[in-house]
Amino acid sequence: MPKRLVIVGAGISGLAAARGAAEHAAAVPGGLEIVVLERDPRAGGKAATLAEQGYLVETGPTGYLDNDDGMDELVALAGMRAEKLPANAAAARRFLVRGGAVREIFAHPLKFAASGIMSLPGMLRMAAEPLVPARRDGADESVWSFAARRVGRQAADRLIAPMMLGIFAGDAKKLSLPAAFPRLRALEEEHGGLVRGMLARRKAKGAGTPAGPSGVLTSFGGGLQTLPERLAATPGVTVRTGVAVRAVVPRAGGGWTVTTEGGEALPADAVIVAAEPWAAALALRETAPGVARQLDAIPCPPVAVVALGYGAEGLARIPRGFGVLIPRGEGYRILGVLWDTHLFAGRSPDGRLLVRAMLGGGVDPAIGDLDEDAIGAIARAEVARLFGLSEAPVYERTTLWRRAIPQYELGHLARLAEIDRGLAAHPGLFLAGNGYLGVSFAKAGGTGLARGREAARFLGAAPQGA
Ligand SMILES: Cc1cc2nc3c(=O)[nH]c(=O)nc-3n(C[C@H](O)[C@H](O)[C@H](O)COP(=O)(O)OP(=O)(O)OC[C@H]3O[C@@H](n4cnc5c(N)ncnc54)[C@H](O)[C@@H]3O)c2cc1C
Repeated sequence: MPKRLVIVGAGISGLAAARGAAEHAAAVPGGLEIVVLERDPRAGGKAATLAEQGYLVETGPTGYLDNDDGMDELVALAGMRAEKLPANAAAARRFLVRGGAVREIFAHPLKFAASGIMSLPGMLRMAAEPLVPARRDGADESVWSFAARRVGRQAADRLIAPMMLGIFAGDAKKLSLPAAFPRLRALEEEHGGLVRGMLARRKAKGAGTPAGPSGVLTSFGGGLQTLPERLAATPGVTVRTGVAVRAVVPRAGGGWTVTTEGGEALPADAVIVAAEPWAAALALRETAPGVARQLDAIPCPPVAVVALGYGAEGLARIPRGFGVLIPRGEGYRILGVLWDTHLFAGRSPDGRLLVRAMLGGGVDPAIGDLDEDAIGAIARAEVARLFGLSEAPVYERTTLWRRAIPQYELGHLARLAEIDRGLAAHPGLFLAGNGYLGVSFAKAGGTGLARGREAARFLGAAPQGA
Protein backbone atom coordinates (compact mmCIF):
# COMPACT_ATOMS: atom_id res chain seq x y z
CA MET A 1 0.00 0.00 0.00
CA PRO A 2 1.42 3.44 -0.85
CA LYS A 3 1.42 5.98 1.95
CA ARG A 4 -0.64 9.10 1.58
CA LEU A 5 0.36 12.67 2.35
CA VAL A 6 -2.52 15.16 2.41
CA ILE A 7 -1.73 18.85 2.07
CA VAL A 8 -4.39 21.37 3.09
CA GLY A 9 -4.21 24.49 0.91
CA ALA A 10 -2.87 25.05 -2.62
CA GLY A 11 -1.16 28.39 -2.10
CA ILE A 12 2.52 28.63 -2.97
CA SER A 13 3.47 26.99 0.34
CA GLY A 14 1.19 23.96 -0.06
CA LEU A 15 2.23 23.42 -3.68
CA ALA A 16 5.91 23.84 -2.83
CA ALA A 17 5.43 21.28 -0.06
CA ALA A 18 3.89 18.90 -2.61
CA ARG A 19 6.89 19.44 -4.92
CA GLY A 20 9.32 18.79 -2.05
CA ALA A 21 7.53 15.61 -1.01
CA ALA A 22 7.32 14.35 -4.62
CA GLU A 23 11.10 14.52 -4.86
CA HIS A 24 11.46 11.94 -2.09
CA ALA A 25 8.45 9.80 -3.00
CA ALA A 26 10.64 6.96 -4.30
CA ALA A 27 12.33 6.65 -0.90
CA VAL A 28 9.02 5.97 0.85
CA PRO A 29 8.45 2.19 1.15
CA GLY A 30 5.41 1.24 -0.97
CA GLY A 31 5.41 4.66 -2.65
CA LEU A 32 3.81 7.99 -1.81
CA GLU A 33 0.50 9.43 -2.91
CA ILE A 34 0.36 13.23 -2.55
CA VAL A 35 -3.05 14.91 -2.46
CA VAL A 36 -3.51 18.68 -2.16
CA LEU A 37 -6.98 19.84 -1.10
CA GLU A 38 -7.90 23.45 -1.90
CA ARG A 39 -11.07 25.22 -0.78
CA ASP A 40 -11.10 27.74 -3.66
CA PRO A 41 -11.98 26.88 -7.25
CA ARG A 42 -8.38 27.62 -8.31
CA ALA A 43 -4.89 26.82 -7.04
CA GLY A 44 -2.44 29.60 -6.15
CA GLY A 45 -3.91 31.15 -3.00
CA LYS A 46 -2.97 34.84 -2.73
CA ALA A 47 -0.88 34.59 -5.91
CA ALA A 48 -3.64 35.44 -8.36
CA THR A 49 -2.97 37.08 -11.71
CA LEU A 50 -5.79 38.46 -13.83
CA ALA A 51 -5.47 39.08 -17.59
CA GLU A 52 -8.21 41.38 -18.86
CA GLN A 53 -8.60 44.23 -21.35
CA GLY A 54 -4.90 44.03 -22.21
CA TYR A 55 -3.79 44.47 -18.58
CA LEU A 56 -1.96 41.85 -16.51
CA VAL A 57 -3.05 42.53 -12.94
CA GLU A 58 -1.60 40.99 -9.80
CA THR A 59 -4.54 40.96 -7.41
CA GLY A 60 -2.20 39.70 -4.66
CA PRO A 61 1.61 39.69 -4.46
CA THR A 62 3.54 41.76 -7.01
CA GLY A 63 6.72 39.70 -7.14
CA TYR A 64 9.41 38.15 -4.97
CA LEU A 65 12.98 39.04 -4.08
CA ASP A 66 15.27 36.55 -5.81
CA ASN A 67 17.73 36.26 -2.89
CA ASP A 68 16.11 33.33 -1.11
CA ASP A 69 17.89 30.01 -1.73
CA GLY A 70 14.80 27.88 -1.08
CA MET A 71 12.71 29.91 -3.53
CA ASP A 72 15.49 29.84 -6.09
CA GLU A 73 15.55 26.05 -5.87
CA LEU A 74 11.77 25.87 -6.14
CA VAL A 75 11.76 27.97 -9.32
CA ALA A 76 14.46 25.70 -10.78
CA LEU A 77 12.52 22.54 -9.81
CA ALA A 78 9.43 23.98 -11.50
CA GLY A 79 11.55 24.42 -14.65
CA MET A 80 10.89 28.18 -14.62
CA ARG A 81 14.38 29.69 -14.28
CA ALA A 82 14.36 30.82 -17.91
CA GLU A 83 10.94 32.44 -17.43
CA LYS A 84 12.01 34.69 -14.56
CA LEU A 85 11.17 38.32 -15.27
CA PRO A 86 13.32 40.79 -13.32
CA ALA A 87 11.85 44.21 -12.58
CA ASN A 88 12.86 47.08 -14.86
CA ALA A 89 15.71 49.35 -13.76
CA ALA A 90 13.10 52.06 -13.09
CA ALA A 91 11.96 50.00 -10.07
CA ALA A 92 15.02 51.24 -8.17
CA ARG A 93 13.31 54.63 -7.79
CA ARG A 94 11.05 54.71 -4.74
CA PHE A 95 8.90 57.53 -3.44
CA LEU A 96 7.30 58.67 -0.21
CA VAL A 97 4.68 61.26 0.67
CA ARG A 98 5.85 63.92 3.10
CA GLY A 99 3.89 67.11 3.77
CA GLY A 100 1.40 66.18 1.06
CA ALA A 101 4.08 66.01 -1.68
CA VAL A 102 5.41 62.92 -3.48
CA ARG A 103 9.18 62.87 -2.87
CA GLU A 104 11.85 60.50 -4.19
CA ILE A 105 13.90 58.55 -1.61
CA PHE A 106 17.42 59.08 -2.93
CA ALA A 107 20.31 56.82 -1.95
CA HIS A 108 22.80 59.68 -2.44
CA PRO A 109 23.19 61.48 0.93
CA LEU A 110 23.13 65.03 -0.50
CA LYS A 111 20.10 64.35 -2.70
CA PHE A 112 18.38 62.64 0.24
CA ALA A 113 19.13 65.67 2.43
CA ALA A 114 17.57 67.95 -0.20
CA SER A 115 14.48 65.75 -0.66
CA GLY A 116 12.69 67.28 2.34
CA ILE A 117 11.82 63.87 3.81
CA MET A 118 13.87 64.43 6.99
CA SER A 119 14.92 67.49 8.97
CA LEU A 120 18.62 68.23 9.54
CA PRO A 121 18.47 67.14 13.23
CA GLY A 122 16.62 63.99 12.11
CA MET A 123 19.37 63.17 9.61
CA LEU A 124 22.15 63.85 12.13
CA ARG A 125 20.43 61.49 14.55
CA MET A 126 20.29 58.84 11.83
CA ALA A 127 23.98 59.32 11.08
CA ALA A 128 24.77 58.74 14.76
CA GLU A 129 23.50 55.13 14.55
CA PRO A 130 26.98 53.54 14.94
CA LEU A 131 27.36 55.35 18.28
CA VAL A 132 24.16 53.93 19.79
CA PRO A 133 24.94 51.15 22.33
CA ALA A 134 23.73 47.70 21.31
CA ARG A 135 20.89 45.98 23.12
CA ARG A 136 21.56 42.28 23.58
CA ASP A 137 18.97 41.17 26.14
CA GLY A 138 17.08 39.08 23.56
CA ALA A 139 13.78 40.71 24.56
CA ASP A 140 10.96 41.20 22.11
CA GLU A 141 10.69 44.74 20.75
CA SER A 142 8.51 46.47 18.18
CA VAL A 143 9.98 47.45 14.81
CA TRP A 144 9.20 51.11 15.63
CA SER A 145 10.91 51.04 19.00
CA PHE A 146 14.02 49.34 17.53
CA ALA A 147 14.17 51.97 14.77
CA ALA A 148 13.58 54.86 17.19
CA ARG A 149 16.36 53.55 19.41
CA ARG A 150 18.89 53.05 16.63
CA VAL A 151 18.12 55.75 14.03
CA GLY A 152 15.85 58.16 15.91
CA ARG A 153 12.12 58.77 16.24
CA GLN A 154 11.87 60.87 13.11
CA ALA A 155 13.37 58.16 10.88
CA ALA A 156 11.15 55.60 12.64
CA ASP A 157 8.05 57.68 11.84
CA ARG A 158 8.94 58.95 8.38
CA LEU A 159 10.90 56.04 6.86
CA ILE A 160 10.49 52.81 8.81
CA ALA A 161 6.75 52.98 9.61
CA PRO A 162 5.84 53.52 5.93
CA MET A 163 8.15 50.64 4.94
CA MET A 164 6.10 48.40 7.24
CA LEU A 165 2.99 49.46 5.33
CA GLY A 166 4.73 48.31 2.15
CA ILE A 167 5.87 44.93 3.47
CA PHE A 168 3.22 43.83 6.02
CA ALA A 169 0.49 46.42 5.48
CA GLY A 170 1.27 46.53 9.18
CA ASP A 171 1.70 48.81 12.16
CA ALA A 172 5.40 49.31 13.01
CA LYS A 173 4.45 49.83 16.66
CA LYS A 174 2.85 46.38 16.85
CA LEU A 175 5.14 44.29 14.62
CA SER A 176 7.84 42.33 16.44
CA LEU A 177 11.39 43.03 15.24
CA PRO A 178 12.89 39.59 16.04
CA ALA A 179 9.95 37.84 14.36
CA ALA A 180 9.60 40.08 11.32
CA PHE A 181 13.24 41.08 10.73
CA PRO A 182 15.51 38.58 12.49
CA ARG A 183 18.48 39.71 10.39
CA LEU A 184 18.30 43.24 11.78
CA ARG A 185 18.20 41.89 15.31
CA ALA A 186 21.25 39.74 14.47
CA LEU A 187 23.16 42.73 13.07
CA GLU A 188 22.77 44.54 16.37
CA GLU A 189 23.49 41.51 18.56
CA GLU A 190 26.49 40.26 16.58
CA HIS A 191 28.09 43.51 15.42
CA GLY A 192 26.77 46.18 17.77
CA GLY A 193 24.66 48.07 15.23
CA LEU A 194 23.22 48.27 11.73
CA VAL A 195 26.00 50.18 9.94
CA ARG A 196 28.74 48.19 11.67
CA GLY A 197 26.93 44.93 10.91
CA MET A 198 26.35 45.71 7.25
CA LEU A 199 29.98 46.74 6.78
CA ALA A 200 31.18 43.57 8.52
CA ARG A 201 28.99 41.40 6.33
CA ARG A 202 30.14 43.16 3.18
CA LYS A 203 33.75 42.61 4.24
CA ALA A 204 33.07 38.93 4.89
CA LYS A 205 31.38 38.46 1.51
CA GLY A 206 33.96 40.44 -0.47
CA ALA A 207 34.19 43.93 -1.93
CA GLY A 208 31.46 44.97 -4.32
CA THR A 209 28.72 43.14 -2.41
CA PRO A 210 25.87 45.42 -1.44
CA ALA A 211 25.82 46.26 2.27
CA GLY A 212 22.05 45.88 2.58
CA PRO A 213 19.89 42.94 1.52
CA SER A 214 20.46 42.29 -2.17
CA GLY A 215 17.87 40.63 -4.39
CA VAL A 216 15.94 41.72 -7.43
CA LEU A 217 12.16 41.98 -7.49
CA THR A 218 11.14 39.17 -9.82
CA SER A 219 8.02 37.80 -11.48
CA PHE A 220 7.25 35.75 -14.58
CA GLY A 221 6.02 36.83 -18.02
CA GLY A 222 2.55 35.50 -17.30
CA GLY A 223 2.54 36.89 -13.75
CA LEU A 224 3.30 35.36 -10.37
CA GLN A 225 0.45 32.86 -10.57
CA THR A 226 2.33 30.88 -13.21
CA LEU A 227 4.64 29.40 -10.56
CA PRO A 228 1.88 27.78 -8.46
CA GLU A 229 0.17 26.70 -11.69
CA ARG A 230 3.33 24.93 -12.83
CA LEU A 231 3.85 23.34 -9.41
CA ALA A 232 0.26 22.07 -9.41
CA ALA A 233 1.16 19.99 -12.47
CA THR A 234 4.00 18.15 -10.65
CA PRO A 235 3.88 14.44 -11.62
CA GLY A 236 2.67 12.31 -8.72
CA VAL A 237 0.73 15.20 -7.17
CA THR A 238 -3.08 15.43 -7.30
CA VAL A 239 -4.58 18.86 -6.67
CA ARG A 240 -8.30 18.86 -5.92
CA THR A 241 -9.84 22.34 -5.97
CA GLY A 242 -13.22 23.26 -4.49
CA VAL A 243 -12.62 20.89 -1.55
CA ALA A 244 -12.70 22.61 1.86
CA VAL A 245 -11.13 20.68 4.71
CA ARG A 246 -13.22 20.70 7.87
CA ALA A 247 -10.91 18.93 10.32
CA VAL A 248 -7.74 16.89 10.67
CA VAL A 249 -8.26 14.24 13.37
CA PRO A 250 -6.12 11.32 14.59
CA ARG A 251 -7.01 7.88 13.20
CA ALA A 252 -7.27 4.89 15.51
CA GLY A 253 -4.10 2.84 14.97
CA GLY A 254 -2.03 5.79 13.75
CA GLY A 255 -2.12 8.40 11.04
CA TRP A 256 -4.88 10.91 10.35
CA THR A 257 -8.33 11.34 8.91
CA VAL A 258 -8.93 14.49 6.91
CA THR A 259 -12.62 15.33 6.77
CA THR A 260 -14.05 17.75 4.23
CA GLU A 261 -17.07 20.06 4.26
CA GLY A 262 -18.48 17.77 1.52
CA GLY A 263 -18.56 14.82 3.96
CA GLU A 264 -15.50 12.94 2.68
CA ALA A 265 -13.14 11.24 5.16
CA LEU A 266 -9.68 10.82 3.65
CA PRO A 267 -7.14 8.63 5.50
CA ALA A 268 -3.62 10.08 5.57
CA ASP A 269 -0.28 8.94 6.95
CA ALA A 270 0.92 12.52 7.27
CA VAL A 271 -0.73 15.92 6.87
CA ILE A 272 0.72 19.34 6.08
CA VAL A 273 -1.67 22.16 6.91
CA ALA A 274 -0.62 24.96 4.54
CA ALA A 275 -3.71 27.09 5.07
CA GLU A 276 -3.60 30.58 6.63
CA PRO A 277 -3.10 30.49 10.45
CA TRP A 278 -6.77 31.27 11.19
CA ALA A 279 -7.88 28.52 8.77
CA ALA A 280 -5.34 26.06 10.18
CA ALA A 281 -6.79 26.85 13.62
CA LEU A 282 -10.24 25.79 12.45
CA ALA A 283 -8.96 22.52 11.01
CA LEU A 284 -7.01 21.65 14.18
CA ARG A 285 -9.37 22.88 16.90
CA GLU A 286 -10.56 19.36 17.84
CA THR A 287 -7.18 17.66 17.59
CA ALA A 288 -4.90 20.29 19.11
CA PRO A 289 -6.97 22.99 20.82
CA GLY A 290 -3.93 24.64 22.41
CA VAL A 291 -2.17 24.91 19.04
CA ALA A 292 -5.39 26.16 17.43
CA ARG A 293 -5.70 28.94 20.03
CA GLN A 294 -2.20 30.17 19.27
CA LEU A 295 -2.78 29.99 15.52
CA ASP A 296 -6.01 31.91 15.83
CA ALA A 297 -4.23 34.67 17.76
CA ILE A 298 -2.07 35.55 14.71
CA PRO A 299 -4.00 38.48 13.20
CA CYS A 300 -4.73 38.42 9.44
CA PRO A 301 -6.41 41.77 8.71
CA PRO A 302 -8.03 42.49 5.35
CA VAL A 303 -6.14 44.14 2.47
CA ALA A 304 -7.70 45.59 -0.67
CA VAL A 305 -5.90 45.99 -3.99
CA VAL A 306 -7.36 48.49 -6.46
CA ALA A 307 -5.93 48.28 -9.98
CA LEU A 308 -6.41 51.42 -12.05
CA GLY A 309 -5.54 52.02 -15.71
CA TYR A 310 -4.85 55.58 -16.87
CA GLY A 311 -4.21 57.23 -20.22
CA ALA A 312 -1.85 60.01 -21.30
CA GLU A 313 -2.39 62.20 -18.24
CA GLY A 314 -1.47 59.40 -15.82
CA LEU A 315 1.63 58.53 -17.86
CA ALA A 316 2.73 62.17 -17.82
CA ARG A 317 2.02 62.95 -14.15
CA ILE A 318 2.99 59.78 -12.31
CA PRO A 319 6.80 59.48 -12.14
CA ARG A 320 8.63 56.40 -13.40
CA GLY A 321 9.56 54.09 -10.55
CA PHE A 322 8.44 51.38 -8.16
CA GLY A 323 5.73 53.30 -6.37
CA VAL A 324 4.95 55.53 -3.44
CA LEU A 325 4.33 54.82 0.26
CA ILE A 326 2.06 57.08 2.29
CA PRO A 327 2.76 57.50 6.01
CA ARG A 328 -0.29 57.67 8.27
CA GLY A 329 -1.23 61.22 9.16
CA GLU A 330 -0.80 62.51 5.59
CA GLY A 331 -4.56 62.56 5.02
CA TYR A 332 -4.83 59.46 2.80
CA ARG A 333 -6.48 56.13 3.45
CA ILE A 334 -4.48 54.36 0.71
CA LEU A 335 -1.26 52.88 2.11
CA GLY A 336 0.66 53.28 -1.12
CA VAL A 337 0.51 52.90 -4.88
CA LEU A 338 2.59 50.57 -7.07
CA TRP A 339 3.27 51.52 -10.68
CA ASP A 340 3.05 48.19 -12.46
CA THR A 341 3.63 49.45 -16.00
CA HIS A 342 7.05 50.72 -14.89
CA LEU A 343 7.84 47.59 -12.85
CA PHE A 344 7.47 44.79 -15.35
CA ALA A 345 7.16 44.56 -19.12
CA GLY A 346 3.77 43.66 -20.59
CA ARG A 347 1.51 44.87 -17.76
CA SER A 348 -0.68 47.33 -19.72
CA PRO A 349 -1.64 48.15 -23.31
CA ASP A 350 0.46 50.77 -25.17
CA GLY A 351 -0.36 54.30 -24.07
CA ARG A 352 -1.81 53.15 -20.75
CA LEU A 353 -0.43 53.15 -17.20
CA LEU A 354 -1.42 50.43 -14.74
CA VAL A 355 -1.09 51.28 -11.05
CA ARG A 356 -2.36 49.48 -7.96
CA ALA A 357 -3.38 51.15 -4.70
CA MET A 358 -3.32 49.16 -1.44
CA LEU A 359 -5.67 49.76 1.48
CA GLY A 360 -6.39 48.19 4.87
CA GLY A 361 -3.96 45.95 6.74
CA GLY A 362 -3.04 46.14 10.42
CA VAL A 363 -3.34 49.95 10.42
CA ASP A 364 -6.85 50.03 8.90
CA PRO A 365 -8.68 46.69 9.34
CA ALA A 366 -12.02 48.53 8.99
CA ILE A 367 -11.48 48.48 5.22
CA GLY A 368 -13.06 45.01 5.40
CA ASP A 369 -16.39 46.62 6.36
CA LEU A 370 -16.67 48.28 2.93
CA ASP A 371 -17.68 46.68 -0.34
CA GLU A 372 -15.41 46.63 -3.38
CA ASP A 373 -17.24 49.55 -5.08
CA ALA A 374 -16.76 51.81 -2.08
CA ILE A 375 -13.08 50.83 -1.78
CA GLY A 376 -12.54 51.46 -5.51
CA ALA A 377 -14.08 54.93 -5.15
CA ILE A 378 -11.71 55.83 -2.27
CA ALA A 379 -8.66 54.67 -4.24
CA ARG A 380 -9.76 56.48 -7.43
CA ALA A 381 -10.30 59.78 -5.61
CA GLU A 382 -7.10 59.57 -3.57
CA VAL A 383 -4.85 58.60 -6.50
CA ALA A 384 -6.31 61.54 -8.47
CA ARG A 385 -5.64 63.92 -5.54
CA LEU A 386 -2.11 62.60 -4.97
CA PHE A 387 -0.99 63.08 -8.57
CA GLY A 388 -3.32 65.91 -9.62
CA LEU A 389 -5.18 63.79 -12.19
CA SER A 390 -8.37 65.11 -13.75
CA GLU A 391 -9.02 62.17 -16.14
CA ALA A 392 -10.98 59.21 -14.79
CA PRO A 393 -9.31 55.80 -15.01
CA VAL A 394 -10.11 53.81 -18.15
CA TYR A 395 -9.77 50.51 -16.29
CA GLU A 396 -10.57 49.52 -12.71
CA ARG A 397 -10.57 46.26 -10.73
CA THR A 398 -10.83 45.96 -6.95
CA THR A 399 -9.95 42.83 -5.00
CA LEU A 400 -10.68 42.58 -1.28
CA TRP A 401 -8.77 39.87 0.58
CA ARG A 402 -10.79 39.51 3.76
CA ARG A 403 -7.93 37.81 5.63
CA ALA A 404 -4.77 38.89 3.87
CA ILE A 405 -1.32 39.20 5.41
CA PRO A 406 -0.47 37.58 8.79
CA GLN A 407 0.88 40.15 11.26
CA TYR A 408 3.92 39.08 13.26
CA GLU A 409 2.99 41.11 16.31
CA LEU A 410 4.83 41.33 19.63
CA GLY A 411 4.88 37.86 21.17
CA HIS A 412 4.89 36.09 17.77
CA LEU A 413 8.05 34.04 18.45
CA ALA A 414 6.76 32.95 21.86
CA ARG A 415 3.52 31.91 20.14
CA LEU A 416 5.48 29.86 17.56
CA ALA A 417 7.37 28.11 20.37
CA GLU A 418 4.01 27.17 21.95
CA ILE A 419 2.79 25.89 18.59
CA ASP A 420 5.94 23.78 18.15
CA ARG A 421 5.55 22.34 21.65
CA GLY A 422 1.92 21.47 20.89
CA LEU A 423 2.72 19.86 17.54
CA ALA A 424 5.47 17.73 19.07
CA ALA A 425 2.65 15.59 20.53
CA HIS A 426 1.32 14.92 17.00
CA PRO A 427 3.97 13.23 14.85
CA GLY A 428 3.11 13.39 11.15
CA LEU A 429 1.27 16.70 11.46
CA PHE A 430 3.08 19.71 9.97
CA LEU A 431 2.36 23.38 9.35
CA ALA A 432 3.52 25.45 6.37
CA GLY A 433 2.76 28.92 5.07
CA ASN A 434 3.55 32.58 5.48
CA GLY A 435 2.02 32.87 8.93
CA TYR A 436 5.10 31.79 10.83
CA LEU A 437 8.71 32.48 9.87
CA GLY A 438 8.54 34.69 6.79
CA VAL A 439 5.62 36.59 5.39
CA SER A 440 6.87 36.87 1.81
CA PHE A 441 6.01 34.80 -1.24
CA ALA A 442 9.65 33.64 -1.42
CA LYS A 443 9.73 32.49 2.20
CA ALA A 444 6.34 30.76 1.85
CA GLY A 445 7.69 28.87 -1.19
CA GLY A 446 11.11 28.08 0.26
CA THR A 447 9.84 26.91 3.65
CA GLY A 448 7.00 24.98 1.98
CA LEU A 449 9.55 23.04 -0.08
CA ALA A 450 11.50 22.19 3.08
CA ARG A 451 8.32 21.12 4.91
CA GLY A 452 7.34 18.74 2.08
CA ARG A 453 10.76 17.09 2.17
CA GLU A 454 10.51 16.76 5.96
CA ALA A 455 7.09 15.09 5.67
CA ALA A 456 8.38 12.63 3.05
CA ARG A 457 11.38 11.82 5.23
CA PHE A 458 9.03 11.23 8.16
CA LEU A 459 7.00 8.80 6.04
CA GLY A 460 10.14 7.06 4.76
CA ALA A 461 11.36 6.55 8.30
CA ALA A 462 8.03 5.73 9.96
CA PRO A 463 6.74 2.15 10.00
CA GLN A 464 3.73 1.36 7.76
CA GLY A 465 0.50 2.88 9.10
CA ALA A 466 2.27 5.16 11.62
C1 LIG B 1 -2.43 41.96 -1.32
C2 LIG B 1 -1.19 41.18 -1.05
C3 LIG B 1 0.02 41.61 -1.58
C4 LIG B 1 1.18 40.90 -1.32
N1 LIG B 1 2.35 41.33 -1.91
C5 LIG B 1 3.47 40.59 -1.78
C6 LIG B 1 4.63 40.90 -2.53
O1 LIG B 1 4.64 41.82 -3.36
N2 LIG B 1 5.74 40.14 -2.34
C7 LIG B 1 5.76 39.08 -1.48
O2 LIG B 1 6.78 38.45 -1.34
N3 LIG B 1 4.64 38.72 -0.80
C8 LIG B 1 3.51 39.44 -0.92
N4 LIG B 1 2.35 39.06 -0.28
C9 LIG B 1 2.40 37.86 0.56
C10 LIG B 1 2.27 36.59 -0.32
O3 LIG B 1 1.13 36.69 -1.08
C11 LIG B 1 2.24 35.37 0.57
O4 LIG B 1 3.46 35.24 1.28
C12 LIG B 1 2.02 34.03 -0.13
O5 LIG B 1 1.24 34.12 -1.26
C13 LIG B 1 1.43 33.09 0.91
O6 LIG B 1 1.28 31.81 0.39
P1 LIG B 1 0.71 30.64 1.30
O7 LIG B 1 0.68 29.42 0.49
O8 LIG B 1 1.44 30.61 2.58
O9 LIG B 1 -0.77 31.12 1.69
P2 LIG B 1 -2.04 31.38 0.77
O10 LIG B 1 -1.65 31.88 -0.56
O11 LIG B 1 -2.94 32.20 1.62
O12 LIG B 1 -2.66 29.92 0.56
C14 LIG B 1 -3.42 29.27 1.54
C15 LIG B 1 -4.43 28.42 0.81
O13 LIG B 1 -5.10 27.58 1.73
C16 LIG B 1 -6.43 27.46 1.30
N5 LIG B 1 -7.27 27.00 2.42
C17 LIG B 1 -7.52 27.66 3.58
N6 LIG B 1 -8.32 26.92 4.36
C18 LIG B 1 -8.57 25.76 3.70
C19 LIG B 1 -9.34 24.62 4.02
N7 LIG B 1 -9.99 24.49 5.17
N8 LIG B 1 -9.40 23.63 3.11
C20 LIG B 1 -8.73 23.72 1.93
N9 LIG B 1 -7.99 24.80 1.58
C21 LIG B 1 -7.91 25.81 2.47
C22 LIG B 1 -6.79 28.86 0.84
O14 LIG B 1 -7.93 28.87 0.01
C23 LIG B 1 -5.51 29.25 0.11
O15 LIG B 1 -5.55 28.92 -1.25
C24 LIG B 1 1.15 39.75 -0.51
C25 LIG B 1 -0.06 39.30 0.03
C26 LIG B 1 -1.23 40.00 -0.25
C27 LIG B 1 -2.54 39.51 0.31
